[in-house]
Amino acid sequence: MEIVELAGMNRQELRAFIDEVPSIWEKKSGVFDRGMNPLLRNFGEKGNLLFGVHVYSIGSQGVAVILTEHDNDTNRATMRIHMTALVGLGGPSEWVHGEKKLRDAIDECKEETLAVVRAQYSGDLGWRGLSFKCPSCGASYFVSRRLVDSEGKTRCQNCNRIVSAVAE
Ligand SMILES: [Zn+2]
Repeated sequence: MEIVELAGMNRQELRAFIDEVPSIWEKKSGVFDRGMNPLLRNFGEKGNLLFGVHVYSIGSQGVAVILTEHDNDTNRATMRIHMTALVGLGGPSEWVHGEKKLRDAIDECKEETLAVVRAQYSGDLGWRGLSFKCPSCGASYFVSRRLVDSEGKTRCQNCNRIVSAVAE
């Protein structure tokens, strides 16, 4: 397991940041160049803490799990990165190497990615996504255009329902 600390971002920014993790991986993966695709993500809240579980496939052989915790009081987040082989391909060392690689990539790109995420909010990169209010549960956050289909439907990160993406 590898740990990345992220300071100075609020919950919405963290949610948007997590959507950028596959892009960060693509940018930095180099020879370890299997694509990273989101399979599942979920958030839960308790008091000031936000907990996230994010599962990605790495090519067809591996799985990455990122556990996030965000403290609303300090605006600090921790990401715990786990990688494992799905079908026994690639020795354990390859996945340990992958964990380190993803940690380093996130570490290296975190300021730049946070700047992109903030630009999305300010509307500078409006085409990348929209401020979203779930018509079902009322949750407000930023949703990447990549996660909105051609009919304008997306999965709410909060209640997990498929809903129409309604800009706030
Ligand atoms: Zn919802």
